Amino acid sequence: MPLPRIDTDTDILIVGGGIMGCSLAYWLAREGREVALIDRYDLNTQASGTNAGSIHVQILSHWAWAEEPEAVRATQRPLKLYAEGVRTWRELAKTLDTDIEFSTSGGLMIAETEREFRQIEKKVKRENEAGINTRVLDANEVRKIAPYLSDVVIGADFCPDEGKLNPIAATPAIARGAEKAGARMFRHAGLLKLERSGNRFTATTARGDIRASRVICAAGGWSAEVAAMLGVTLPVTRRALHMNATEAMEYRVPHLIQHMGRRLTLKQASNGTMLIGGGWAAQIDEPTNRAVVQRSSIHGNLWVAQHLMPELRHLRIVRTWSGIINVMADGLPIMGEVPNVPGFYIASTSVGYTSGPGAARLISELILGRKPSLDISAFAFDRFMTGPQNFDKLPFLIENPSL
Ligand SMILES: Cc1cc2nc3c(=O)[nH]c(=O)nc-3n(C[C@H](O)[C@H](O)[C@H](O)COP(=O)(O)OP(=O)(O)OC[C@H]3O[C@@H](n4cnc5c(N)ncnc54)[C@H](O)[C@@H]3O)c2cc1C
Repeated sequence: MPLPRIDTDTDILIVGGGIMGCSLAYWLAREGREVALIDRYDLNTQASGTNAGSIHVQILSHWAWAEEPEAVRATQRPLKLYAEGVRTWRELAKTLDTDIEFSTSGGLMIAETEREFRQIEKKVKRENEAGINTRVLDANEVRKIAPYLSDVVIGADFCPDEGKLNPIAATPAIARGAEKAGARMFRHAGLLKLERSGNRFTATTARGDIRASRVICAAGGWSAEVAAMLGVTLPVTRRALHMNATEAMEYRVPHLIQHMGRRLTLKQASNGTMLIGGGWAAQIDEPTNRAVVQRSSIHGNLWVAQHLMPELRHLRIVRTWSGIINVMADGLPIMGEVPNVPGFYIASTSVGYTSGPGAARLISELILGRKPSLDISAFAFDRFMTGPQNFDKLPFLIENPSL
């Protein structure tokens, strides 16, 4: 049966029904704002519903090799936003209507060579300077808290606030909270055209028209296409990343495990399944916006995982999948109003599932005319408007969107 046509007005229109869009709807509707959200598919079907569910706080491994001072500062800049993301998830885990399997039992980024260990020492220093609670562990200390890891490990960066959650449960719970607070969610209503006339926007969707005073672009890897409808050049692209899940085993891995020199995230879901990812590539089928798994990523990703945790060799893989992540040109979030287009806001973050609800709350504060409770001026759009762009200085941020 065809879905009913839309012909409506709203104060705030959100484009995109991932973690960012649903969280924006949640915070704004709970403040009594009139909110409509559109997605071209169902909610939570792109990055937010396909991601690894890792709660990241420490500097990701591919960013942690930076040495050029501006690049080092860039890696430190979003750390407080990630920590804010964890605080927000902790709060949401207590208030949402379902168990989102949130836990922060700590995260270990493993070193297995002297070179990696030395870089981990530098990385911890940078994290502590940025106000993030991490510390260096030697091999014995790692073995004590994570006896399931192989003896190739010579040390680690330990962050007690890292952990995991279940994105398949969490985004829909936030969306339900938003709807309960009055937000209207229009599924299968892809944005086809966006126009601004006077101080009003008209959005033409696959199901009809919505007129709004403000529009927030929360379209993840497709944000540039949405912004382009208003003539705004937004340096956001997309990449496809790979994930694996094993059959269940006895619960004994409380931590999030990453590797300083290899692509890996490893953790155990509450049903016993081991979830293995870490930024291995997949392919994007552009016409359908679907990510397609590559066999080479299955092999590479599983090799790294069993190298670090040998007992994984005895488990079968029961599922692989891939998803499409938003990638900002300088690797940093873009949050806030576009100066030349009043009323048009961008909401796109790095480490986006961890930071999503926290970042959305900060953007909501801006929209509500309040001072954001965390300074997000470093993530304003206007950094792309001043002077020549020099992303070449930060190539590691663009080339390795590993999570
Ligand atoms: C495999 C993988 C693993 C990851 N692992 C982690 C992790 O462990 N931890 C972490 O913190 N982050 C992780 N991420 C990153 C994180 O998932 C994303 O950064 C985050 O989910 C982005 O959320 P979003 O709402 O901005 O985008 P999305 O979830 O992609 O949502 C954007 C929505 O916009 C909609 N849309 C696009 N164009 C239009 C249009 N024209 N009209 C209407 N709707 C439109 C899309 O259909 C989509 O639903 C991972 C990502 C992937 C792909």
